Amino acid sequence: MGEPVKLTELSSSDFKEFLNSFDHVFSDCDGVIWAGNPLPRTGEFFKKMKQHGKTVHYVSNNSLRTKQDYEGKFKSVGIEDGYENLTLPSTAIAEYLKSVNFNKKVYCIACNETVKLLQSNGFKIVEGPLVSPDFYQEYLQYLEDDPEVGAVVIDADFKVNLAKLYKATTYLRRPEVIFLNGATDRYVPMKPGCMALGTGAFTDLIAEDTKRVPIQLGKPGKTFGEFAMRRAGVTDPSRVLFIGDMIEQDVGLGKNTGFKTLLLLSNTTKEEMQAHKTIKPDYYAESLASIVPLL
Ligand SMILES: [Mg+2]
Repeated sequence: MGEPVKLTELSSSDFKEFLNSFDHVFSDCDGVIWAGNPLPRTGEFFKKMKQHGKTVHYVSNNSLRTKQDYEGKFKSVGIEDGYENLTLPSTAIAEYLKSVNFNKKVYCIACNETVKLLQSNGFKIVEGPLVSPDFYQEYLQYLEDDPEVGAVVIDADFKVNLAKLYKATTYLRRPEVIFLNGATDRYVPMKPGCMALGTGAFTDLIAEDTKRVPIQLGKPGKTFGEFAMRRAGVTDPSRVLFIGDMIEQDVGLGKNTGFKTLLLLSNTTKEEMQAHKTIKPDYYAESLASIVPLL
């Protein structure tokens, strides 16, 4: 495994070679294009990439935002066609279920936007309960199977509780029940220097209890990377540069799918990047703004 190369320290001929090594840019959003507020010069970066003949697509694990919110965020940095070119776990989950002609009920431990998107695609959703009782005895009801449920979907639910975990694990004990996972984030950046547990940790509990491996329809799952490629009309993963700020999700997705990877040090320090035992990006930089002058 080679050591990551700092993009802004390349000679101009090496930088040219780097630019010629890919045709498509796939970019994460949170921590790359905005971090709450827009990050500087990000719209400019993608405009320049297009001028260099690259296609540009966006790939996020964040299904929580509404379409309007995403459109507003893209527009705020001057990206006009962001939402149309955005791939999310929620869209991948809907497409997956369609591809297997799924017609049973879907049990969802997921955020509102994912549930709404699945419903708008015609799927029958069951959820809840929202409130968990105070005694184990009252949980027996959640261990009752419902043969009508044919899939369990997990994607960033902040209202997860023990009753929901009981239901999911009960359905998943039937091997034919499809197990789909969206956002996998076990840790999320909460404030500078502070990573905290993310909702992805709950999937691990369910997977461990049922000895089932979910189909990963979020970063860093290869199935998700391939889905993003199909949406973008890309056939050769080695001609994709994936840009992200998280080692596990973004660089991990790139490695699993065969993309070139660029890590931005907005939520990861250089030391953390260098210390990672198994995943290293091909390139790194401080921010998109630091690369703009080279383009
Ligand atoms: Mg990010």
